[in-house]
Amino acid sequence: MATRRLYYDDSYQREFSAQVLSCEPEVHGTAPAWAAILDCTALYPTSGGQPNDLGKLGDANVVDVRDDGEDIVHVIDREVPLGSVAGCVDWGRRFDHMQQHTGQHLLSAMFQERYGRPTVSFHLGSDLCTIDLRGPEPTLDILEGAERIANQIIGDNRAITARYGTAQEFAERGVRKEVQREGILRAIEIEGADLQPCGGTHVKSTAEIGIILVRHCSKMRQDWRVEFVCGRRAARVARNDFQLLQKAAEELGAAAEDVPAAVKRAISERDGHFKSVKSLLQRVAESDAASVLQAAKPAKDGLRVIARTFDENSQPEYLNHFATQLAKSEKTIALLSQSGDGHLLFAQHPAVGKDMNALLKQVFAQFAGKGGGTRDFARGKLNDAAQAEKAVALAKQLLISG
Ligand SMILES: [Zn+2]
Repeated sequence: MATRRLYYDDSYQREFSAQVLSCEPEVHGTAPAWAAILDCTALYPTSGGQPNDLGKLGDANVVDVRDDGEDIVHVIDREVPLGSVAGCVDWGRRFDHMQQHTGQHLLSAMFQERYGRPTVSFHLGSDLCTIDLRGPEPTLDILEGAERIANQIIGDNRAITARYGTAQEFAERGVRKEVQREGILRAIEIEGADLQPCGGTHVKSTAEIGIILVRHCSKMRQDWRVEFVCGRRAARVARNDFQLLQKAAEELGAAAEDVPAAVKRAISERDGHFKSVKSLLQRVAESDAASVLQAAKPAKDGLRVIARTFDENSQPEYLNHFATQLAKSEKTIALLSQSGDGHLLFAQHPAVGKDMNALLKQVFAQFAGKGGGTRDFARGKLNDAAQAEKAVALAKQLLISG
């Protein structure tokens, strides 16, 4: 026997009495659960893009409701005896779904009617709802336009009714959606705005949607995914958006309406600072290299090996410039490391004739790491940054003995 779906006739029914026809243990996550089938129910199962209801059957909590062909299966957290049972719907959750779902019908109709953008799928999430529109990218004018007209219709307080008929009858009345099912179908009519086959739960007038707020639009494969929220959820989301804006304004020390300009200014200042730091780093590295070279005493063969380990505050750009500058000087080799991140940098004047890449590989044979380069310039990174100083000492020793 098929479960009679009370929500088809009255989606506002919160309490009902039914007969428990079967109640069998089943697996639901880690907690013990039972699957109950009733002769009728007001609880909506997950289907058609609308999430399931929650509620109670007797003393048992309903943790899930699913469609199983003609039957509706109620997953409950304790066993209920066969026979009569009183059931109720978690109304806050259900009414929220009704607002989102009816808002989706209306919004999709506006995108279709006014802008020729059909909805190919929709999703009611626990935070945001989405519809996927086919066609070219919807402009801001289209997104705002569909929202504005939908909200006008909400203000009109138009009636929303369930209609029954065959697929052919609905097609004659202008239903766009192709329906494969045979027999009598259910469709939802928003007076003067939309007629759409649907088995979900809806509010009874457009005013009960409250408001529709369209948010982000992004590309989703070949379609455009439009985020929206309705009713109480829209107020919550708008409040949260405002708080985020307010926080950003406080951080920037600007008024909310000046946030975009203040962010733009801060980014351009940052880019400017970044540029001047880069050029300063180069100048400092060059001048440091010059004084190091002056102080360095050449070994017997005239070779100057400059080995240094820098602390974690040294910038990679600085090391790079420092090494490059040293290696411009004849008979000079630079062996550098950074103790914060374990970077190694070996460079030589081309006329020296050693092999920095081979030297780096020899160091990695003892202290694990990754990297490489050319004969004159090689760089890498030690797995263990704490070995930075020892790695440079080893490189120097290998050079002198080799
Ligand atoms: Zn619907």
